[in-house]
Amino acid sequence: MIQLGAPLSEVYGIGPRFLSKLKNLGIQNVRDLLWHFPTRYEDFSQIYAIRDLEPNQEATIQGVIKEIGGRRTWRKHLYIVEALVSDETGSIRAVWFNQPYIKNILQPGRIANFSGKVVVSNEEIYLSNPVYELVSDWRETKHTGRIVPIYPETRGLTSKGLRYLIKPVLDELEKLRDFIPHDILKNKNLPEINEALQAVHFPENLEEAVAAKRRFAFEDLLLLEFTVLTEKLKIAKEKAMPLKFKIEEIKEILSKLPFELTETQKKSLWEILKDLNKTQPMNRLLQGDVGSGKTVIAAVAALVAAKNGAQTAFMAPTEILARQHYGTLKKIFSELGAEIGLLTSSEAKIFYGHRLESSIKKPDFLKEISNGKIKISVGTHALIQKNVSFLNLALVVIDEQHRFGVKQRKELVGGKNLVPHLLSMSATPIPRTLSLTLFGDLDLSLITELPKNRKPIITKVVAPENREKAYAFIRGQVKRDRQVFVICPRIEPGEKNETDTGKLEIKSVKEEFEKLAKKIFPDLRVSVLHGKMASKEKERTMSAFAKASADKRERIDILVATSVVEVGVDVPNATIMMIEGADRFGLAQLYQFRGRVGRGEHQSFCFLFTDSSSKTTRRRLESIVKAKNGFELAERDLAIRGPGEFLGTIQTGMPDLAMKALQNLELVKDAREEALAILKKDPSLKNFTALRERLTDFKKETHWE
Ligand code: ADP
Ligand code: MG
Repeated sequence: MIQLGAPLSEVYGIGPRFLSKLKNLGIQNVRDLLWHFPTRYEDFSQIYAIRDLEPNQEATIQGVIKEIGGRRTWRKHLYIVEALVSDETGSIRAVWFNQPYIKNILQPGRIANFSGKVVVSNEEIYLSNPVYELVSDWRETKHTGRIVPIYPETRGLTSKGLRYLIKPVLDELEKLRDFIPHDILKNKNLPEINEALQAVHFPENLEEAVAAKRRFAFEDLLLLEFTVLTEKLKIAKEKAMPLKFKIEEIKEILSKLPFELTETQKKSLWEILKDLNKTQPMNRLLQGDVGSGKTVIAAVAALVAAKNGAQTAFMAPTEILARQHYGTLKKIFSELGAEIGLLTSSEAKIFYGHRLESSIKKPDFLKEISNGKIKISVGTHALIQKNVSFLNLALVVIDEQHRFGVKQRKELVGGKNLVPHLLSMSATPIPRTLSLTLFGDLDLSLITELPKNRKPIITKVVAPENREKAYAFIRGQVKRDRQVFVICPRIEPGEKNETDTGKLEIKSVKEEFEKLAKKIFPDLRVSVLHGKMASKEKERTMSAFAKASADKRERIDILVATSVVEVGVDVPNATIMMIEGADRFGLAQLYQFRGRVGRGEHQSFCFLFTDSSSKTTRRRLESIVKAKNGFELAERDLAIRGPGEFLGTIQTGMPDLAMKALQNLELVKDAREEALAILKKDPSLKNFTALRERLTDFKKETHWE
C-alpha cells in the first residue's frame, strides 16, 4: 500500500534516474505525481482491424509480430526498426526511428498493441513511430487500446514514461478520505476522490475524464473560497476604531472640491464611510479605471479619520506615486488643515496647510508619527518599517497592491488590539471570477464612470511601414507643446545569444532612447526612465516631465520608459502614448498605459506598435481600440492569456487547474456558495477534519500566508 504523502524515493520501481527527472517537473512525493494531471487525452480506445485502416488516421491495432529487424540508412544516419504485424484481417508495417532497442522488446511471436498515425508512402500504408505495448492476459494496458493520457513532459521523461510510473502507484494507493463532504459531491454530480484520480489518469471514456477534472477544479476553488472566506471571518472578529462623521461635514468638504463627484464616486464614498463607522475593520477594494478619481475618495476618508483624531497611512508602490498622492492631498487639504507627511527612502517632508511646508529629518518625522501629530502620512514601503510606530493609526490606504493582511496591519500599530481599516485601491479591472476568489475576502466598491470632462483617447495599431508617419505626428504634437511617452518592453538590448528566442528584436529603452535622441528627434528633448535608475534620478526625470508647461527650457518632450510609468502617474499635458512591442504586454496593462494620457483638456492618442504579423496578436490589440472599459478588457485578457499571465506576480503558487477554473464563473459561484454554507454552520470547521487539514496544506502550497 502506498501512502499519499510518501516521498517517491520510497516507492518501489522509481529509481534515481526517474527521481531527478520528476523533480524537474516539480514532482517529489506521491501526491505530486498523482496530481500531475494530463493536459489532454488521445483516444486509442477502439482497436481497429488492420484491413480497415485509413491513411492519416490515428488508430490502435492489435496483432502478432511476424518479423522485426533494424538497419541504418546510409544517407541520414538514421537507425530504422521495422516490424511486420498481422491480425486476422491483414498485415501492416510499423516503423520507428533511432530506437534500436525496440528490436529486443517486440520479439516475433508476441502479441502487442500499436497506437499511432497511419502514413502513406509509395502507395503503401504503414504505422509511423507508433506507441507499442505488449499485451498479456493479466495486465491492463496503459499506453494503447484505451483513452491515453498526455502529460506535461520533460526532457527524458515522456508521457509514456509518466504512465509507466503513475499506473502502478495508482493501483497500489491507499484509499483516500474525501475532504469534500459527500452531499456536495452528490449535489454537484462530481466523482469522489479515489474514483476521480483513477479517471483523470486512465479514464474509460472522455466524459469520465472531464468529470474528474471538473471535480479537481471544484476542489481547488472550494479550498480557495475557504481560504478567503475564513480570512474574512477572521477580520470581522477583530476590533477597529469606529470613525464618526456628520453628513453636513462631508457635504462641506465636498463643496470645497473644484469639481462634483461622479455618481459612482459618491456611491463608493458612502460605502466606505459606512464601513469606517463600524467597530470592525473595513476591508474594502475600491476599483475604478485610471483617472476615475479614486484618490479624492481616499482623501475624504483620511480626512474623516483626522477629524476623529486618528491617523491614516497612505501607501504607494513607488516614490513617484507617493509624491503625486502627497501633491494631490496637499491640494485637497490646503484649506482644510491637517498635517500631512511624506516619507520615502530618500526624503521626509511635512505640510502644515496654507502653503506651509518643510523638509524634516527622518528620525524627527518618525517622532511626529509616534506622537500622533502627523495625521496623514503618505509614503512608500518606508512607512511600514519596523522603526515606524503610529500612535493611533485607524486607516490604511494602499494603491495598486491589493493585499495587506490583518497581521501586517497589526504590526503597523505595534500589536495593539485595534486593527486599522483598510482601503485598497486598484485601477486594474479585476474580472468577476477573480474578485470572488483571489480577492474574495475584500468588499468591493466600483467607480464605473470617468469624470465628464474627459475626451476618448484615439487609439491605433500602427503597422511597421507607418512608423515614419507616427514620428511626424509626434513632432507636430510637440510643436504644440504637448508631451509624449514611449514605452518599451525592456531596459537593455538583448544579448547576441538570445537571437534564437527572438528576444533580440524586443525594443529596449536604451536603444530607443539612442535612436530617438540622436537620429529621429535630435532637436527635441528626449529622456529616459526605467527601474534600474537610482530613485533620485527617476524622481528628477519624472518631476521634470510633469512640470512641462511651467518652463520650456526644462521641458522634457519625449520620455522613453519601461512599465515604471504604468500605474497612477498623472501628467495632464502628455497627449501621446506610444507603445513599442505592444504584443509583449497584457491587454489590461496596455489599457493602463493608455490611461497615462487623456488626463487633461487636450485630445490624446495611443499608438500601439508591433512587428508581429500574427492575426491573433492583431486581434488582441484591436480589442484595446474597441474596448469601452477596463472590465471588458480584463475579462478578455483573462480568457486569452489565462489567469497566470493575467495576474502576473500577484499570486504564484496556484495550481494550474484552479487557474483555469478561475475562468469558469458558474463553478466559482458554486464553490463560494458551498463554502459559505459550511462556514455558516461551522465557522471553525470543527466537524470537517479532513477539510481542515487539506486547507492548511493548501495555504502553504499557494503561499497564501
Ligand atoms: P485614479 O482613479 O486613476 O487614481 P485620480 O484620483 O488620480 O485617478 O484622479 C485623476 C484626476 O481627476 C485628478 O486630477 C483628480 O483631481 C480629477 N478628478 C477626480 N474626480 C473628479 C471628478 N468627479 N470630476 C473631475 N475631475 C475629477
Ligand atoms: Mg491613482
